[in-house]
Amino acid sequence: MDFLRPTRWADALAAKAAHPAAVPLAGGTDVMVEINFDHRRPTHLLDLTRIGELFTWDADQRTIRLGACVPYADIIRNLRGELPGLALASHTVASPQIRNRGCVGGNLGTASPAGDAHPALLAAGAEVEVESVRGVRRIPIDAFYTGVKRNALAPDELIKAVHIEKADGPQQFSKVGTRNAMVIAVCAFGIALHPRTRTVRTGIGSAAPTPIRAQAAEDFLNAALKDGGLWDSGGAIDPSLVRRFADLCAAACNPIDDVRGTADYRRHAVGVMARRTLTWTWEAYRGAPPGTRDERGAA
Ligand SMILES: Cc1cc2nc3c(=O)[nH]c(=O)nc-3n(C[C@H](O)[C@H](O)[C@H](O)COP(=O)(O)OP(=O)(O)OC[C@H]3O[C@@H](n4cnc5c(N)ncnc54)[C@H](O)[C@@H]3O)c2cc1C
Repeated sequence: MDFLRPTRWADALAAKAAHPAAVPLAGGTDVMVEINFDHRRPTHLLDLTRIGELFTWDADQRTIRLGACVPYADIIRNLRGELPGLALASHTVASPQIRNRGCVGGNLGTASPAGDAHPALLAAGAEVEVESVRGVRRIPIDAFYTGVKRNALAPDELIKAVHIEKADGPQQFSKVGTRNAMVIAVCAFGIALHPRTRTVRTGIGSAAPTPIRAQAAEDFLNAALKDGGLWDSGGAIDPSLVRRFADLCAAACNPIDDVRGTADYRRHAVGVMARRTLTWTWEAYRGAPPGTRDERGAA
């Protein structure tokens, strides 16, 4: 196995063009497990950890451009204000050791339906910046996941960064696991309120072959919030609407039975998480102090 260690981004792209089968290595928390278990024996490993720009982020007025290799620990420490949904999701990834190494670029590279970053990225409406020697393109997150552990990268492309709008409203992330920490999601749910565009977006993990949005649930809720004038009035959402939203989120799932949970349980849990996270975020949007929140819809 050849170990390619570029120190410049341009050299990494050239190496990927010369060896399209080369496996990029970021934190290695997925790649090294696969190699150690002999599930993968690549001819070339392309180490990205010497390319400093991949470990940085920058911001303009509206957007954070998050380098592909920024570890979860940095997101939690430094970006919880701008990217609260992704920071909450990052908190639930594995252990401190893994969070110091693992990154969103690696989560996207693996594209597991159970990856914790995906629901938050879907809810936020992120874009993935990818590059090859042929040029740069930005892939909307909705178009990024193409199948079980498959993504829209061409063989010669690398992920350079993820563009995520700074939160303009409350965001939440919820994950069900077989225990509280160091656990792959049985299922997960992300929600982001976007008051600027008067929209709510969702993301569901581990309940379909790919991470998905609950599009029908979003359409239903967005129409109900608009028709009720609730974005302007800040009024409470009727519990029947919350329940309908939750039912539509559950109906969006296409889960399987596996060792972590049954398909029925996943559908049920997604509905519960949808109900709770919508209630939390909407009450936060209304400015209701914690403890006084109307959680009738979250039973
Ligand atoms: C003990 C343990 C617990 C875990 N728990 C969780 C968990 O709770 N939640 C969760 O979501 N994940 C979990 N994981 C999986 C893993 O930590 C995450 O998927 C992590 O985000 C991977 O990031 P990484 O930097 O380590 O990626 P790597 O292992 O370096 O790479 C992962 C994949 O992405 C590709 N890749 C990496 N960078 C790029 C790039 N710039 N361009 C193109 N392709 C690239 C690699 O070739 C590889 O296919 C766990 C792993 C372990 C070992």
